[in-house]
Amino acid sequence: MTSTQLRNTTSTPAIEIKGLRHTYHSGHTALDGVNLTCGVGLFGLLGPNGAGKSTLMRIICTLIEPSAGQVRVGGYDVTRERRRVREMLGYLPQDFGGWRLHRVEEVLDTLAQLSGMLEKKKRRARVAEVLHQVGLSDVAHRKVKKLSGGMVRRLGVAQALVHEPKVLVVDEPTVGLDPEERIRFRKLMADIGRERTILLSTHIVADLGAACREIALLDGGQIVFQGPPPELLALAKGRVFEITTSSAEAEALESRHEVVSRSIANGKVTLRCVSEGRELPPSATVVEEPTLEESYMAFMAERGRTTAARQDDEHLPGKGDRVEGADKVEGVDPAAAENRQAG
Ligand code: ADP
Repeated sequence: MTSTQLRNTTSTPAIEIKGLRHTYHSGHTALDGVNLTCGVGLFGLLGPNGAGKSTLMRIICTLIEPSAGQVRVGGYDVTRERRRVREMLGYLPQDFGGWRLHRVEEVLDTLAQLSGMLEKKKRRARVAEVLHQVGLSDVAHRKVKKLSGGMVRRLGVAQALVHEPKVLVVDEPTVGLDPEERIRFRKLMADIGRERTILLSTHIVADLGAACREIALLDGGQIVFQGPPPELLALAKGRVFEITTSSAEAEALESRHEVVSRSIANGKVTLRCVSEGRELPPSATVVEEPTLEESYMAFMAERGRTTAARQDDEHLPGKGDRVEGADKVEGVDPAAAENRQAG
């Protein structure tokens, strides 16, 4: 076991952030007074592009020094105790370009050695264990360039876990993965989150899954919500509505309301929308149990931030699973393709 112990295992939060501010040299303030505490479990850092998620992640990982405030990982300060903090952290990179010609097992063995696991037998056992955990045992001898996108991402998780860090930091992990791989990845995060802290940043609400313990919603460099998912769901009550109508009327409604999903059955269109104010169209029915995605959209709509909050390809044609008996369920997000490219 090479992992560093928390400075005080019983009461020290894995991540503790107080009054964090960061202004880039350009003069742009990316984080503006962030307070956040994370214990064991999966924490979703949610927010639109440009909210400051990557800046926050980079500060936690000691890659950039904050302009002001305090950030501690396992009780260690990210500025003054950088080495200690790094020992506590596993970071999942987006890219594995540099390792393309190496074999999966070799990559992990090398990284484990670099992290200080010098005893060969123990290291081999740990590499086998972590490969099993991420479901890559069968491809241990395959070259990285021969792996699918989802496998590469899981190899990223394996390398981040090999030295048994207390905290796993994962930045936009499902970008570029197909739906099946996304589901598998979410399950993996849920498994790992049972015993470690995972801080997972994303702009796709569905990435957080059912296992998410708390959501921190970052917008414009500030935490605008922090709490368990049911709290966000409660805030959306009465603000999500459903309406079934003709396609001509649906078009008119779409221009006036923020539509989260659309389904077509028997020539009728059913729209699920979030309202910016408290008033709903006359023939609308309130959705009693909005999804987390709808709740997020409703929360952002209230802040006048619907465009920024739009979700991408989770609800492309055929991917919707909510409306029974529908001929077709489709996302109506014009920014989807753009988001995917920007992702
Ligand atoms: P997110 O990860 O939520 O998309 P970022 O942390 O990448 O947000 O960016 C937050 C804000 O800071 C954005 O407005 C972005 O343009 C700006 N920003 C990010 N990196 C830099 C940088 N190196 N120099 C100047 N501004 C930056």
